[in-house]
Amino acid sequence: MKVLVAVKRVVDYNVQVRVKSDGSDVDIANVKMSMNPFDEIAVEEAVRLKEAGKVAEIVAVSLGVKQCEETLRTALAMGADRAVHVETDAELQPLAVAKLLAAVARREQPGLLLLGKQAIDDDANQTGQMVSALLGWGLGSAASRVELSDSVTVTREVDGGAQTVKLTLPAVVTADLRLNEPRFVKLPNIMAAKKKPLEKLTVAELGVDIAPRLKTLKLAEPSPRKAGIKVATAAELVAKLKNEAKVL
Ligand code: AMP
Repeated sequence: MKVLVAVKRVVDYNVQVRVKSDGSDVDIANVKMSMNPFDEIAVEEAVRLKEAGKVAEIVAVSLGVKQCEETLRTALAMGADRAVHVETDAELQPLAVAKLLAAVARREQPGLLLLGKQAIDDDANQTGQMVSALLGWGLGSAASRVELSDSVTVTREVDGGAQTVKLTLPAVVTADLRLNEPRFVKLPNIMAAKKKPLEKLTVAELGVDIAPRLKTLKLAEPSPRKAGIKVATAAELVAKLKNEAKVL
């Protein structure tokens, strides 16, 4: 079986993001970029399924600017077999991403399409849901466990517990934080990844309308929080919650 894994290039999670002074966008000039952490988990899961003999080929796909190649090389170093880059400088909103991923999935015909549950830059948590609807494939979102056979059984993180769903293949699964811990990529694998195939596609070749449907009006940083205080006793805490915060 083939697994297609979607990997997004995002601002590294350690970076403190700043809003541009005119409030039009976030400032990502000279900022460290990395693979979206949930996508690393998705790649790791695909590699583990391959190591368990349940998957024959892993294809990583990324959509966006030229530097997405670096993100794809990381996926290849983690264990993906080949990569597909849909190169564009245009802004890609989740619906456009979902349409492009659906088009790539129709070309590649994977048994499983793996994504992160959300991208840590836009925090949209939409693409997996949209691409499953566009393809008409079942969806197991926010997966904390994936068991693959001639169907896929997904344990989902839901409010107040876990839900298990069984999906016929092909299916879409989005990875949550507790699914696994991605491996540390070793230098020889980084070197080997440079020789793995990376195919380039254009939006025009895929015939997808990527026009943005949403307009960002303004971005603002959250107002600074006041420093906390330490209280000596539980009684003092209750008194403060009652008399000062007035929440009791
Ligand atoms: P979002 O719906 O934006 O929170 O993104 C959810 C998931 O969709 C991400 O974790 C990725 O797996 C995938 N995704 C979003 N944008 C891209 C992109 N430009 N290229 C590849 N995958 C993407």
